[in-house]
Amino acid sequence: MTKRIVCREAGYDCDFQVQSENEDELVEFVKEHAMNTHGTELSASDIRGLAVDI
Ligand SMILES: [Zn+2]
Repeated sequence: MTKRIVCREAGYDCDFQVQSENEDELVEFVKEHAMNTHGTELSASDIRGLAVDI
C-alpha cells in the first residue's frame, strides 16, 4: 500500500510531499526534510501519524 505525507499537514507552510510503498523509507525522507528545511526533529511515530493511504 502506498502512503503519502504532505508537509503542510504537519502545520508548515511548505509544499514538500513524499509518497512511498515503504513506510520506513517515508519516515526517513520526512525526518531528513524536517531537519534540513525546518530545523525540527520529528519522531517516527509523529511522522507515521501524518501518513495517509493513497
Ligand atoms: Zn516542509
